[in-house]
Amino acid sequence: DMSNAQLIRDETGRPFIIVKDQGRKRRQHGTEAVKEHIIAAKTVAGLVRSSLGPRGLDKILISPDGDITVTNDGATILSQMEIGNHVAKLMVELSKSQDDEIGDGTTGVVVLAGALLEQASELIDKGIHPIRVADGFDAACEVAIAELDRIADTVEFSPEDTSNLLRAAHTSLGSKIVSIAHDKFSKIAVDAVLSVADLERKDVDFDLIKVDGKVGGSLDDSLLVKGVILDKEFSHPQMPKIVKDAKIAILTCPFEPPKPKTKHKLDITTVEEFKKLQAYEKATFETMVKQIKDTGANLAISQWGFDDEANHLLLQAELPAIRWVGGMELELIAIATNGRIVPRFEDLTKEKLGHAGTVREVTFGTTRDHMLVIEDCANTRAVTAFIRGSNKMIIDEAKRALHDALCVVRNLVKDNRVVYGGGAAEIACSLAVADAADKTPGIEQYAMRAFSEALNAIPMALAENSGLSPIETLASIKSRQVKEKNTRLGVDCMQTGSNDMKEHFVIDPLIGKRQQLLLATQLCRMVLKVNNVIVTGSGED
Ligand code: ADP
Repeated sequence: DMSNAQLIRDETGRPFIIVKDQGRKRRQHGTEAVKEHIIAAKTVAGLVRSSLGPRGLDKILISPDGDITVTNDGATILSQMEIGNHVAKLMVELSKSQDDEIGDGTTGVVVLAGALLEQASELIDKGIHPIRVADGFDAACEVAIAELDRIADTVEFSPEDTSNLLRAAHTSLGSKIVSIAHDKFSKIAVDAVLSVADLERKDVDFDLIKVDGKVGGSLDDSLLVKGVILDKEFSHPQMPKIVKDAKIAILTCPFEPPKPKTKHKLDITTVEEFKKLQAYEKATFETMVKQIKDTGANLAISQWGFDDEANHLLLQAELPAIRWVGGMELELIAIATNGRIVPRFEDLTKEKLGHAGTVREVTFGTTRDHMLVIEDCANTRAVTAFIRGSNKMIIDEAKRALHDALCVVRNLVKDNRVVYGGGAAEIACSLAVADAADKTPGIEQYAMRAFSEALNAIPMALAENSGLSPIETLASIKSRQVKEKNTRLGVDCMQTGSNDMKEHFVIDPLIGKRQQLLLATQLCRMVLKVNNVIVTGSGED
């Protein structure tokens, strides 16, 4: 049990693991410690292995407080597991970094790291020092990355012709729960990214894409709003349902009649005094409303609420309002409408108002939900993907799937070089590394061959998860890649009858695949370097 483990570094930056294990006093040295970690890491990799690929299994995760998640996203599966072992935790971090930087390939990177560590463990058994293994892996990784660059292809697209982007998004949604609404989600992903992309600078401002969802309707009712969508309604049912040419005051300051009762000590003894106070409150609020209207605003959006009386005054004053809008949403509205958030009432000026073509209340299908849509904004680039679904579980997984598809399209816009999936790229790299190993003298060649072996884990897992025989499939594709000099051949997971991944448009961004190799190799080095586990306790030997 390594749950009391603590990772520290010595003065040269070498990691150590300290285990506070009072019960069993033991001390692990060198390879014994490394191997214990490898077993833990392999367990983690084994857990996500069966969800790799379009035929991967979904996992049902139940949290300690009973929340249910259905997913086959590696990063999600790992982030919800309670993991004690430190190296196993590193695997979780690994999948997270892949997710943060690329947003895709989170399962693959863990499977690859697990396979590399398994190979390393065999080499250590043969008496090769862990550091030599790590060095050999580094050399092999370099060869593999050079091979990726060599075999990379490009995916062409333009704002007029987005068919390739749509196909890429479509493939990425392949194994996800949203498969019933594939076309819709692909289109949402491509539209969203292109709306916020600067194609010349190959830049995509992801912050401008908001993914939101609400229970009700079906996945097919999901939509992309070129603007902001708010799960709110106008504060009073009699206010108009649409504000055209909206000039919006965005307020984070209290927007309500003053509450002197809490601030000053008041002695109200007569009805007159009470009425006077009421009149005072009313007059103050009316002044506030006038101040807003004087700036030219025809809509107020407030972080705060106001009571029925104030709401009624707003209706009378013909100033539509939206209340209780969250801070994040206010920020998004401000960006989208080119407005400024006003934190102090006296700071409100004409210049700070946001602008939008329309702000309207919409209802969805047969449901009675109201939502507010802010469209034709001054800053037209902000968009919101709004996901509908019959329950929260489906919406959450659909959000994750859409996020993946958005990442795929974003990655292509940033860098349109790709390699072919279905294990095709891994097999090509495996062959290249094996080749290089043959030409490498010394001990390192063993580690390089082991690296080449580990790369097979991806096509083998894909084959196994699709009900194909892993070894036969791998052998056949490998020999065909060599014979036909075709690095596009991969595992035909969907049993289409063709192994040419270009035909099925099964692609992976070059940067994503490269990142997977680098991260997995780096993780191995970290694990292989942890060569001392000091068990503290009273009876240390
Ligand atoms: P990850 O979280 O690593 O992206 P996925 O479960 O999305 O894991 O699986 C991705 C793997 O499945 C990649 O290796 C990809 O090339 C492969 N893949 C996806 N679609 C297909 C397909 N239609 N045929 C063969 N392989 C596919």
